[in-house]
Amino acid sequence: MIPVRETSVLIAGGGPVGLALAADLGWRGVECLLVEQTDGRITTPKMQEVNVRTMEFCRRWGVADRVMHCPFPDDHPMDVVFVTSLGGYELARMERPARKHQTPGPFSPVNLQICSQTWFDPILRELAQSYSGVTLCHRCRLETFETHEGGVTAEIVHLDTGERETVKARFLAACDGANSSIRQALGIKLVGSEVLSRPVHMFFRTADLVGKLGLRRGTFYLAIDRNGLWANVRVIDPAAGLWRLMVLDTPADLDPNRIDCNAHLRRALGRDIDVEWVGVSAWTRRGVVAERYSQGPVHLLGDAVHQLSPTGALGMNTGIADAVDLSWKLAAVIEGWGGDGLLASYDAERRPVGERNVRAATGYFESHRDFERGIEAIEDATPEGDEIRQRVGEQLLRDIARMFRTLGVQLGYRYDPSPICVPDGTPPPADEPETYVPTARSGSRAPHVWLDDGRSTLDLFGRGFVLLRLGPEAPDPSLLLGTATERKMPLQVVTLHEPEVLERYDRRLVLVRPDGHVAWRGNEMPADVGALVDRVRGA
Ligand SMILES: Cc1cc2nc3c(=O)[nH]c(=O)nc-3n(C[C@H](O)[C@H](O)[C@H](O)COP(=O)(O)OP(=O)(O)OC[C@H]3O[C@@H](n4cnc5c(N)ncnc54)[C@H](O)[C@@H]3O)c2cc1C
Repeated sequence: MIPVRETSVLIAGGGPVGLALAADLGWRGVECLLVEQTDGRITTPKMQEVNVRTMEFCRRWGVADRVMHCPFPDDHPMDVVFVTSLGGYELARMERPARKHQTPGPFSPVNLQICSQTWFDPILRELAQSYSGVTLCHRCRLETFETHEGGVTAEIVHLDTGERETVKARFLAACDGANSSIRQALGIKLVGSEVLSRPVHMFFRTADLVGKLGLRRGTFYLAIDRNGLWANVRVIDPAAGLWRLMVLDTPADLDPNRIDCNAHLRRALGRDIDVEWVGVSAWTRRGVVAERYSQGPVHLLGDAVHQLSPTGALGMNTGIADAVDLSWKLAAVIEGWGGDGLLASYDAERRPVGERNVRAATGYFESHRDFERGIEAIEDATPEGDEIRQRVGEQLLRDIARMFRTLGVQLGYRYDPSPICVPDGTPPPADEPETYVPTARSGSRAPHVWLDDGRSTLDLFGRGFVLLRLGPEAPDPSLLLGTATERKMPLQVVTLHEPEVLERYDRRLVLVRPDGHVAWRGNEMPADVGALVDRVRGA
C-alpha cells in the first residue's frame, strides 16, 4: 500500500521561489512539504542579483546579513562596464559601489546585493529548514495530482529509492519553473513572446582573468564590437575564478553540442586565454505571463507563471514577491480568519505585476537588440574610432544601463485595483521604472522611514496586520482593534510620533497588511469598521 502523508501546503519545486514560499510559510507557523526533484546543488547559477525588495524580505526573515556576507568579495566593485572586448576599449562604466562602500539609500534600509544562486538558495533552504513545520524533500518529484473539494491529492516519488507516497494537502503551490508540468496539466496558457532570442551560456573558470587582461574590475561586462551588442560576461565567484559568458542570440538550428566556446570567448576577451569550461547551455529568452495564477486549490508562482528576459534581473525577484503575497493569504485561510475571497486576490494582485515586469524586462532586451548598427570602426585606433566610442559610450549609459536603474520597478509595484485594498481616492504616482516615488497610497508598498529607535518602519510589518497611528491627533483605534479581534484577524496597533512618518504616510491611520502593503488609510476611523475588516481579509 502506498503510504499517505498529510500537510497544509504541498510545494512543488525547490528553486528560489519554492524555497522562499516554504520559508515564509514556516516563518508564519504554517505546515508545508516541499518536493524538489534535484538534490538542490547548483553548479551553473542563473540568478545573481537579489534586488532591494527581496533584500527587504530577507531582512524580515532575519537573513539579510547572511546574503550581504555571502562569498562575493565585499571589496569587489559591482560596476557595469561596456567594452569592445574585455581586453579592448572600455566604452563606458556605470559605477556601483562594492558592498563595503554601500550605504542605504533614502528609500530602503537595505541595498541590492550580488549573491549568486549558489549561495542564495542554500540561505533560503536553511531558513526554511529552521522551522519545525517545514519539510523539505530533495530528490523527490511530484508526478501526478488531482484536485477535489477538500484540496489536492498528489503522488510523489523518491527518486533514489523509487518509493512512492500519496500526499493530501489543502493547497498545492506550483513553483516548478518555466516548464511547469502543473501549469500544463491545468491547461493554463502563457501569453506573450515565446521567443525573444536564443542565448547560450558558457561557464568557465580561470584564475586572475582581471590581471591577465589588465582589466579594471567590475562585475558585469557588456561587449559591443563592430557587429553591435552581442554578449555579456559576468564574474560569478571572483575568488574561485568562475565566470559566465552569455551570447545574446544564436541561430534557431544551433546544435548546443557543437558550440565553439573558445571562438566566442576569444571574441569576448579580444585574445586567447586558456580556461576550464564548466558548463554550456542553450535556452530561450521569453517574455510571457500565464493567463491565470490560480485554479481551485492550486496556486502558481515564479517562472511557472512568468518568464522574463534576465535583462533587469527581475525574474526571481518577481517570483519571491509572488511567494510573499501568497503566503500570508494561505496562512490566513488555514488559520481560519481569511475570507473566501482572499486567495482570489493573489491572481488579481500579482498577475498585473508579472505583466508589468515582463514588459520592463522585454523593453530592456529590445534596446539591446535594436542597439545601433553602423559602428564598424568602433575598435579602430583612429579619430573616427575615438568619436564612435565616445558617442556609443554615452548612448550605452543612457539606453542600455537603464536595466540597472530599476528602483521604480523594484519598489513601485502596487496592487491597484485590488479586491482587498480600499482606494483612498488619491491619484497614483507615475509608474516610472527608474524612479521610485514613496507613497502610502492604498495598495502600495508601505514606505520606509527610519524611526528614532534605529528601526525602519518596514521592521514593524510582517506577522499580522499593523495599524499605524501617526501624529498627536491619531484617532482611538479601539473600534478597529475590537472588530479585528472578533473576526480573529491578527492586528497590532503601533503609535508613532516621528513627524517624518506622518509626512510620508500622509494620513493619521494606516492599515498595513502582513506582506507590508497598505490596505487602507484615513484620517478618521471609517464609518463601517466591520466592512473595512471584512474587505481586507477577503471576506
Ligand atoms: C541568465 C539568467 C540570469 C538571471 N539572473 C537573475 C537575477 O539576477 N535576478 C533575478 O531575480 N532573476 C534572474 N534570473 C531569473 C531567475 O533565475 C528565475 O526567475 C528563477 O530561478 C525562477 O525561480 P523558480 O523557483 O520559479 O524556478 P526554478 O529556479 O526553475 O526552479 C523550479 C524548480 O522546480 C523543480 N521541479 C520542476 N518540476 C518538478 C516536479 N514535478 N517535482 C519536483 N520538483 C520539480 C526543478 O527541479 C527546479 O529546481 C536569471 C535567469 C537567467 C536565465
